[in-house]
Amino acid sequence: MSSNAFSTLNLKPELEANLATLGYASMTPIQSQSLPHILAGKDVIAQGKTGSGKTAAFGLGLLDHLNVKRFRIQSLVLCPTRELADQVAKEIRKLARSIHNIKVLTLCGGMPFGPQIGSLEHGAHIIVGTPGRVEEHVRKGFLSLDDLNLLVLDEADRMLEMGFQDALDAIVDAAPVDRQTLLFSATYPKQIEAIASEIMHKPVMVKVESTH
Ligand code: ADP
Ligand code: MG
Repeated sequence: MSSNAFSTLNLKPELEANLATLGYASMTPIQSQSLPHILAGKDVIAQGKTGSGKTAAFGLGLLDHLNVKRFRIQSLVLCPTRELADQVAKEIRKLARSIHNIKVLTLCGGMPFGPQIGSLEHGAHIIVGTPGRVEEHVRKGFLSLDDLNLLVLDEADRMLEMGFQDALDAIVDAAPVDRQTLLFSATYPKQIEAIASEIMHKPVMVKVESTH
């Protein structure tokens, strides 16, 4: 069996079975290099270009870790735009199809605030959102991050380019210190290095050039 087979990861059986259904035959390079560390609970900085399969890398880590019986916000994924957040939420729901009753909620700017409060009152396991809107819900007391154990910054370089540094800092301040943090980025400028050293604990660095 090749080392890039998903079966080498010992994922929850229902997750592994669903991957076969989705036609994911083997891991992409960024997945095979990051997932063992992600599943071991380490902080990971992963750099890889568009289309390299970063969503499933953190998505599988997040879903393997999740306790469905505990109806609390356990994972938060931050993305630069609503379009990207919607794509990530869609991919996570697809990966989670074999796990019953998982609730993934998106919280993005440009959407009405009121219905999001209602959705938060109903509860969720996973939130995918944009930093500004997530920070606003945290600040106003509609979203508690007390039970968060995994924070993912997706396309971190773009979030910083878009001026989300303050919102990210406020969200991190509201999250438990004892958590896992994953940072995904296409590039690794100084600004990312600085935020990583502040919010991550002994991160493992993974860099992949090719998609396949
Ligand atoms: P990135 O975030 O790195 O730009 P995505 O996570 O959006 O890339 O993945 C790109 C595409 O590859 C998606 O359509 C996704 O469903 C698909 N994909 C991801 N991992 C695999 C895999 N192991 N096997 C087959 N397809 C995959
Ligand atoms: Mg992506």
